[in-house]
Amino acid sequence: MKLDPALLRGEFKENHLLANYTTWKVGGEARYFYQPADLQDLTAFLINLPRNKDIVWLGGGSNVLIRDGGIKDPVICLRNKLGVLKQEENATIYVQGGVSIARLVQYGVQLGLPEIAFLAGIPGTIGGALAMNAGAYGDEIWNHVISVETINRNGEIKTKTKADFSISYREVSGLNQEWFISARLIFPQVDKEQAKLKVREFLNKRCQSQPLSELSCGSVFKNPPNDYAARLIEACNLKGHKIGGARVSEKHANFIINDGTAKAVEIESLITLIKNEVQGKFGTLLENEVRILGEAK
Ligand SMILES: Cc1cc2nc3c(=O)[nH]c(=O)nc-3n(C[C@H](O)[C@H](O)[C@H](O)COP(=O)(O)OP(=O)(O)OC[C@H]3O[C@@H](n4cnc5c(N)ncnc54)[C@H](O)[C@@H]3O)c2cc1C
Repeated sequence: MKLDPALLRGEFKENHLLANYTTWKVGGEARYFYQPADLQDLTAFLINLPRNKDIVWLGGGSNVLIRDGGIKDPVICLRNKLGVLKQEENATIYVQGGVSIARLVQYGVQLGLPEIAFLAGIPGTIGGALAMNAGAYGDEIWNHVISVETINRNGEIKTKTKADFSISYREVSGLNQEWFISARLIFPQVDKEQAKLKVREFLNKRCQSQPLSELSCGSVFKNPPNDYAARLIEACNLKGHKIGGARVSEKHANFIINDGTAKAVEIESLITLIKNEVQGKFGTLLENEVRILGEAK
């Protein structure tokens, strides 16, 4: 792939290791890796990208398993890029896709918006949160979306609303070779004290139930209807079960921990083992919440 570097102001790298761009800290190299300087720069990159290439988008890498053989297609990563965050009229917040959820929550606390608290403690970016319909404690980001902007292969930007997508639990469909670059979100209630209290309450809940000091991607599996993946995995006596450097968390059975030495293939093998065990015992096929990307080594 030939791109004229003079056309780009962002960071373009070849054969760039992706492990550090994920919270699991595993994964091989991106053949082509790009972080845009800004929206104009992203547009130039997309326009110049050969049409035969698929694109893989990455935000904070907190919900992906990148295989050890890496990713052949160009990877566009918005982490720490496209970082505009501002309040607009009518209690709306405009936030670009590379803003971290943590920064959005902090901003919401400053503005005194208690309804933003469910997002506290979810890692990753706004782009990733929109793609995953990130949520917790009974709320989801798309409940607060007024509109989003997407960019397509031709660098065209479109404003869309919830009605343009099919939104469900940790799933958003209806994106057609286009990706999220910003959102307008609404959290109408204003109460400064409540905002602080709610964020603290939800962060405490997370600390108590999740292994936050260890390397993970959060919940590996979606909860099946009217049940919990963690309950099913625990009932198969899989807490603490290891494959190489990957193990099922003792604290939360839907988390797989990398002890620092795991390869992606070990994590993926553990995912398969868990699915087989749960299906064998309960007849329930667990569905991945985590997105598995790239090639095996
Ligand atoms: C400790 C921990 C706790 C977690 N708790 C929660 C929780 O409570 N609730 C929850 O929902 N999730 C949780 N997660 C999972 C994860 O943080 C969320 O899914 C988050 O929204 C992913 O954002 P990201 O930017 O890291 O996305 P990534 O992991 O980078 O990407 C996830 C998917 O979105 C796609 N994508 C990324 N950016 C874009 C974009 N701009 N446009 C289109 N597609 C895009 C990627 O291609 C990929 O398919 C947790 C993870 C961890 C590690």
